[in-house]
Amino acid sequence: MNYTSTRNNALSVSSAQAISQGISKEGGLFVPCEFPQFSLEKIGSMVNMTYIQRAKTVLKEFLTDFSDSELDYCVEGAYEASKFSSDDIAPTVNIKDNENILELWHGPTCAFKDMALQLLPYLMTVSAEKAADGKEIVILVATSGDTGKAALEGFKDVKNTRILVFYPEDGVSKMQKLQMATQEGENVAVCAIKGNFDDAQSAVKEIFTDESIKAKLAEKNMMFSSANSINWGRLVPQIVYYFSSYCDMVKQGRIKNGDVINFVVPTGNFGNILAAYYAKKMGLPVKKLICASNSNNVLTDFLTSGEYNKNRDFYTTTSPSMDILISSNLERLLYHISGGDDKLISELMSSLSKDGKYSVSDGMFNAIKEDFDAGFASESEVIETIACYDYLFDTHTAVAVKVYEDYLKRTGDDIPTVIDSTASPYKFPKSVYTAKCGIGDIDKDEFEILEMLNGLTGVEVPQPIRELRSKSVRFNNVCKRSDMAEIVFKLLKL
Ligand SMILES: *Cc1c(COP(=O)(O)O)cnc(C)c1O
Repeated sequence: MNYTSTRNNALSVSSAQAISQGISKEGGLFVPCEFPQFSLEKIGSMVNMTYIQRAKTVLKEFLTDFSDSELDYCVEGAYEASKFSSDDIAPTVNIKDNENILELWHGPTCAFKDMALQLLPYLMTVSAEKAADGKEIVILVATSGDTGKAALEGFKDVKNTRILVFYPEDGVSKMQKLQMATQEGENVAVCAIKGNFDDAQSAVKEIFTDESIKAKLAEKNMMFSSANSINWGRLVPQIVYYFSSYCDMVKQGRIKNGDVINFVVPTGNFGNILAAYYAKKMGLPVKKLICASNSNNVLTDFLTSGEYNKNRDFYTTTSPSMDILISSNLERLLYHISGGDDKLISELMSSLSKDGKYSVSDGMFNAIKEDFDAGFASESEVIETIACYDYLFDTHTAVAVKVYEDYLKRTGDDIPTVIDSTASPYKFPKSVYTAKCGIGDIDKDEFEILEMLNGLTGVEVPQPIRELRSKSVRFNNVCKRSDMAEIVFKLLKL
């Protein structure tokens, strides 16, 4: 199995190279050159497997340059039972009729990003040994919340890696800030910056691409890499849980092996739903992939009109991990749909960066519509949805549930459907509690609200969130954007 770039399909690299490098030189994203095919017989053989066994079965087809023992080491380390609050790792539960929830938040940071970021450090260190002379990997992250914490937790004390996370001082929730400030581990550092997420992100990109900094790192046998969802190593672990959820549906007797189902995915950067598309391409019986957005509905418009246009107002919502106007992983979908037309993708992406928009041909648009449906939920609809179900959703999941309800009404397509739940409701206690009680604001500390929500619903509070209150703060430094490079030097002793 080889990988090529969405902007230069003459390239062909191994998975180890794609993962250690992160992004292709000319700015394109690495994509698999083909999709390994899973027959119904093969899927049937996975039904009685554990999550770890299912993961090995899927990943083996993509990471063909990893030996069996390397793959065992990676997967068993990542999904070790003690790190997850469910023995099933990612259970699928029925909430009513044909409506099912795939709970992706049982990992150590209580967001779905753990599903990939628990595995990425293992994939990355093994890849670096194979493709990058065993250089020490330095992960730089600019985060608006969930990614930073999940990456810290994944890379903490992983040998041959360091991780530095920058977040906007006033741009993350209280809970998210505390999660990062109390991070343990000898190879981690966290710094708040004065400015917004874009400031943090652009400064990280500058440091990343600065040739003199890279040369200094190389002298110390270090290299930068990226832990965000443009890295193939973050996408490939996500394919696993679509197969796993399908197998669980079979195991629970909700479907027969071979029946088609729908998936609904609360979407931001388009990584999670793209993994579902890959699963479908590999033979998983899927009818529609339903892309759910919040008020930042640039993807709903694209998937219903064929025009992507980011020139619009940006809204800060109660589902912050979906507040995004440029969905990077859409580039990969466009590449596959266009039949691997790297020239076209380069053109579309340059018009996106120049004019903030692009349109696809009728042919491409029709092909996209075959696989995808889309919708969005407003803030008031999110609140209503949380209030009217017994099952306790977080705000991101509620967006998806509302979009599914609308889809069901519009199409009458009531086949078994799995909705991705991407965060524990306790990560956003205030929004969820006020929605559940039908009240406006509430003037109480987040940890008090957390216990009130637990009292109201009886739903268990994940240990890592409850523990936060008593953890000591290790990182409380705030720096200016212009000082970030210097901080990186200091921390790496360059
Ligand atoms: C990151 C995130 C999303 C969006 O996922 P993408 O892969 O970026 O589309 C949705 N919900 C939560 C809770 C997240 O952390």
